[in-house]
Amino acid sequence: MNRTIDPATIISSLGAYLEELRESGVDGFPVDAAGSILRDPDSRAVPAHGEKLASSAGAPPETLDKIRKNLGECQRCKLGSTRKTLVFGTGNPKARLVFVGEGPGADEDAKGEPFVGDAGRMLNRIITAMGLKREEVYICNVVKCRPPGNRNPEADEITACSPFLLRQITAVKPDVIVALGKFASQTLLETKEPISKLRGKFRDFHGVPLMPTYHPSYLLRTGGNSDSFWDVWEDMVQVLRLLKLPVPDKSRKTGNSSSG
Ligand code: SF4
Repeated sequence: MNRTIDPATIISSLGAYLEELRESGVDGFPVDAAGSILRDPDSRAVPAHGEKLASSAGAPPETLDKIRKNLGECQRCKLGSTRKTLVFGTGNPKARLVFVGEGPGADEDAKGEPFVGDAGRMLNRIITAMGLKREEVYICNVVKCRPPGNRNPEADEITACSPFLLRQITAVKPDVIVALGKFASQTLLETKEPISKLRGKFRDFHGVPLMPTYHPSYLLRTGGNSDSFWDVWEDMVQVLRLLKLPVPDKSRKTGNSSSG
C-alpha cells in the first residue's frame, strides 16, 4: 500500500535524528551533493565573514555550557591528539568585554584555563588597570588546544576550531572584543596587516567593535613601561570609553621607554 508522508514530518524527523546524532558525539558529515543539509547541525549558528552575529531564527540563544558540551573531548583537528587539556574559556558568560588570544601555552594546557602564566599575569594587570576584575570579562582563544612547541595554529586547525569561538562570542554577546596580538587580530579580521598598523582603531567583527592590540607576552618582552605598554593602555582607554566606563588616570613614567 502506498503511503504519502507529509514533508513536514520528514523534516521534523530528520531534525530530531540529526540532533540525536549530535548529542551522541557525531558532529558532521562529509559535504556531498546534499551537503547543505548534511552539515553539522550546529553550523547554522556560525555566521559567514561579514555577517552579523545572531542566533538562529527563532531558536533560543546557545549557552556556553552547551557549546562546551558539544566540543566534548574534541578531536576535530590534529591538536586534539597532543593537548593535555582543552582550554575552553573563562569569565563572565554575560561579559561586556571579551579578550581573545591565539591559543593555550604550556601553563594553560596544564591548568585548563586561558592566560594563567606570565602573559596571564600581564593581562590581569591590564584588566586591573582598567578598573575591572578578571571575573567580570570573558577570556578565550582562537584555538582551544595547545599547538606543540607553541607554534602558531595552522589553517586547518583554525578552520576546525573557529566556529566554536564564534559560537562563544555569539553566546556572550559582548559590546567590545579585544584581540590580543598579531595572530588573533589577523585571524579574526582575516587580514595580513601588521599588528602595529591594526592596533589603535576599532574594526568590525560580525557587528561587534573589535580592538586589536599587542599580546601581553610581547609586553613582557618590551617591559612594563615601554612604548608598546602605553600603546596598549591607549587602546584600552578607547575600549573603556566605548563601554562608557570610567577611565582610571594613569600617567606614563619617564626614563624607561623601549621602541617595542
Ligand atoms: S583545537 Fe579546537 S578543533 Fe582542534 S581539537 Fe582542539 S578544540 Fe577541537
